[in-house]
Amino acid sequence: MNNLEHIKCNLCGAEDEKLLFNTATVRVVRCRRCGLTYINPRPPMENILTTFVYSGIGSEQNYDKINISKDKIYRSALKKISSRLPIADYRLPRLLDIGCSNGYFLQLARSRGFDVYGVEPSKLAVSLARKSLGTQNDSLGRDRVFEGTLKQANFPSEYFDVITLWDMFEQVSDPSGEIDEIKRILKPGGLILIRVRNMSFHLIVYRFQKYIGFLVTSPAIMHLYGFTPVTLKKMLIKAGFRGICMRDSPLTKGDPYMQSKTTVWLMDILKKMLFVLCKIVYLVTLRRIILTPSLFAYARKK
Ligand SMILES: [Zn+2]
Repeated sequence: MNNLEHIKCNLCGAEDEKLLFNTATVRVVRCRRCGLTYINPRPPMENILTTFVYSGIGSEQNYDKINISKDKIYRSALKKISSRLPIADYRLPRLLDIGCSNGYFLQLARSRGFDVYGVEPSKLAVSLARKSLGTQNDSLGRDRVFEGTLKQANFPSEYFDVITLWDMFEQVSDPSGEIDEIKRILKPGGLILIRVRNMSFHLIVYRFQKYIGFLVTSPAIMHLYGFTPVTLKKMLIKAGFRGICMRDSPLTKGDPYMQSKTTVWLMDILKKMLFVLCKIVYLVTLRRIILTPSLFAYARKK
């Protein structure tokens, strides 16, 4: 590939990497200093945005399929968020979902009493989200769903009570910059919830992929970055967040990303077995080792 750019570690700034593995298209490395996993070198950001991000996930049906598979996870996270919020006395709590897709999570949040806002780069997803949320403007007098990136949205400082990032943080070009911007627009005491793919799990899968390759088309999921509970926590600490809580995440239902080579019902059973196994490891190690394919981080701005 031409035009590749070589990057420093986004978490600690070092240029001290170790090659983990090569796939057909990318080289995956781990920082020797802090442990962050990332693709290096990588295509320039404008190519990545055009190829993957702006185009979204293809069709309205794909968005629906993903929403159905994550519905329970969304509802349970909203309950947790509501229970951790300070009681707002004069207005609805403001919630921003970054990478809000077709707005399904925002609809659920609104039904639980949040004043909802979204940021989304994909044109198709933005139009679907605006349709589902209606045309009423937000308190800044603009569309509830901003088309573009978080920095382009340029929200006022200390504006939101809650900010959520569902399975997208590993896809941004500069996670450290993103988290600094989130901190700026979050109120003091405000909450952040991040769900990412768990690199601890995906590295194990990668090592054993020759044994399980008959089950899934692409065993190791790798985006621009791969976070483990340790590296995600380090990133939140570096940005000045407090009360950081790392949690295992329930698995999505079915096969929303169409990776299975087997039937959906068999995949569901295997996923349930995997979840039970990960839960046992999590509890036996007193919640120190999180091996579920995805993980949650909750944190609070000081
Ligand atoms: Zn590093």
